[in-house]
Amino acid sequence: MEFLRPGGWAEALELRAAFPEALPIQGGTDVMVELNFDKGRPAALLDLNPCAELRRIEEIDGRVRVGAGVPYVQIIRELGTRVPGLAQAARTVGSPQIRNRGSVGGNLGAASPAGDSHPALLAANAVIEVTSAARGSRMIPIDDFYVWVKKNALEPDELIRAIWLEPDSGPQYFSKVGTRNAMVIAVCSFAIALHPRTRTAGTGIGSCGPTPLRARAAEDFLARELPWADPVPLTETIAREFGALVAAAAKPIDDVRGTADYRTHALSVMARRTLSWAWNDLAAQRRAA
Ligand SMILES: Cc1cc2nc3c(=O)[nH]c(=O)nc-3n(C[C@H](O)[C@H](O)[C@H](O)COP(=O)(O)OP(=O)(O)OC[C@H]3O[C@@H](n4cnc5c(N)ncnc54)[C@H](O)[C@@H]3O)c2cc1C
Repeated sequence: MEFLRPGGWAEALELRAAFPEALPIQGGTDVMVELNFDKGRPAALLDLNPCAELRRIEEIDGRVRVGAGVPYVQIIRELGTRVPGLAQAARTVGSPQIRNRGSVGGNLGAASPAGDSHPALLAANAVIEVTSAARGSRMIPIDDFYVWVKKNALEPDELIRAIWLEPDSGPQYFSKVGTRNAMVIAVCSFAIALHPRTRTAGTGIGSCGPTPLRARAAEDFLARELPWADPVPLTETIAREFGALVAAAAKPIDDVRGTADYRTHALSVMARRTLSWAWNDLAAQRRAA
């Protein structure tokens, strides 16, 4: 197997175009598992580790730009207050070793419906910057990024360059159900982001469909029904209806990790809980202001 090691980003893009059969590798925490289990044998690997720019977190025009190769540990360290939903999701990924190597870019590259960053990226309305040597960069809204099971919207000559996020304008939460507390693939997961400035809410569902999903009707419900102007305690009726709408948006299957019924139920519980946590935070922020 050939190992392509570019000097930097520009050369990585050229190699990507010249060798479309080469598999990009960043942290390798998905790629090396596939190789070790002989699930695939690409003709070549394209090593993205020499591309230093992929490991930078920057603030540009008030938005946070996270390089595709930024490992989870850096997201936890640097984005805990600016993008708390993604930082919470990052804390649940694998083990310290996996969080040191694994990246959000790799999670997006693999596009597994169980990937932990996806619900948080959906809830936060992330935009994915992808680049090719021939056509330059284009921005893909996160809703258009996931195409099918483990399939994303990348063209064969493109690489993921960065993830763009609005810094937190309101509370964000991520919740994951697994068969144990750590080192676990999600049975199902859920993320919420409240955007009080626009009086809207974002949601993301993981491991409950062929792709990560957004619960659009549940978001519309919150935009309409939450008492944004005066965050009085959340009523049980709103929390339950939100949970039911999130569960209705899921398309789960029965598999070794859980049944469709269990996933639907767990999702409604996570949706209710994360909404109450987020709403309580918002109310506390308002009281403190
Ligand atoms: C023990 C273990 C535990 C794990 N636990 C979790 C978990 O709890 N939650 C979770 O979500 N995942 C988990 N994973 C999976 C994996 O760690 C994540 O998906 C991680 O985000 C992958 O990032 P990486 O940088 O290692 O990607 P890599 O393995 O390097 O690449 C993954 C895929 O993305 C592509 N890719 C990488 N970078 C780019 C780029 N810039 N442009 C285009 N394509 C690119 C690669 O070609 C490949 O298809 C676990 C893996 C292991 C081995």
